[in-house]
Amino acid sequence: MVELEGVNKHFGALHVLKDINLTVRKGEVLVVIGPSGSGKSTLCRAINRLETIDTGTIAIDGQKLPEEGRALARLRADVGMVFQSFNLFAHKTVLDNVTLGPRKARGTPKKAAADQARALLDRVGVANQANKMPAQLSGGQQQRVAIARALAMQPKVMLFDEPTSALDPEMVNEVLDAMVALAREGMTMIVVTHEMGFARKAADRVVFMADGQIVEEAPPEEFFTAPKSDRARDFLSKIL
Ligand code: ATP
Ligand code: MG
Repeated sequence: MVELEGVNKHFGALHVLKDINLTVRKGEVLVVIGPSGSGKSTLCRAINRLETIDTGTIAIDGQKLPEEGRALARLRADVGMVFQSFNLFAHKTVLDNVTLGPRKARGTPKKAAADQARALLDRVGVANQANKMPAQLSGGQQQRVAIARALAMQPKVMLFDEPTSALDPEMVNEVLDAMVALAREGMTMIVVTHEMGFARKAADRVVFMADGQIVEEAPPEEFFTAPKSDRARDFLSKIL
C-alpha cells in the first residue's frame, strides 16, 4: 500500500532521511518511534508530499507520487494525515470541518457530506459536538474531529504524527481508543507515537528511527522486550 525505495532527503547540509526503504502492507499498522530529530515527521510529510524528496520513490497503492499537479492532489487525497496540533478550521463548525474536504475536493452534495460526517463523528465518539465551534471542544475531542475529518476523504492510508503528545494526559486514551478501533477495522496506518500501550495493542510492526535511518524493525512484543541495537535499547530505557 505504501512503498518507499531509496528515499533521501536533505535540509541544506543536514541529511534527514538516509536511504529509507519501507513497505507498509494493506491493513498493516506501523508504529514509528525514535529520538527527537531522527526524521519521523519528515518521513510522514514526505509520504504526503508536504515535503519533497531528493532521491528515491514513494508509491501509494502502486502509484508513484508525482511531483505536482492534479495527479498529486488526487494521490494526496488517498493519504489522511493527523498532526500533533489539531489544525481544525477555527471559524467553522465541527460538522463543516468534516464536510468541507469532500464537498470541495470530491464534489459530494451537501446532504450526503453531512450524513457521512455525522456517521464519522459518531464513530469517533463526538457526534453530539457537531454544531459547536472547535474552541468549545476539549483537546481530545478536537483531535477526534481531526481524525473524522481525515477519514471523510476516504483515504487508503492514515498518517498520524504524534497525535496525542499535545493532549492533557486524561484525554490521551480517548484518542488512542479511536485509533485502535480504526486499526481493528483494517485501516492501513503509519503512526508516529511514543505511546507504547497503543503500539502493543494495535501495531503489527514497530520501526525505530535514529539519525534519519531505519535502525531496527520488529513486531512490538519483540522490539520492546528484546531490542537488538544499542540505540534502541538506550532510547527505550529513557521512555519506558
Ligand atoms: P520530533 O520527535 O522532535 O518530532 P522528528 O523525528 O519528527 O523529531 P523531524 O521533524 O523529521 O524529526 O526533523 C528531522 C531533522 O530535520 C531535525 O534535525 C530538524 O531540525 C530538521 N528539520 C525538519 N524540518 C526542517 C526544515 N523545514 N528546515 C530545516 N531543517 C528541518
Ligand atoms: Mg516530529
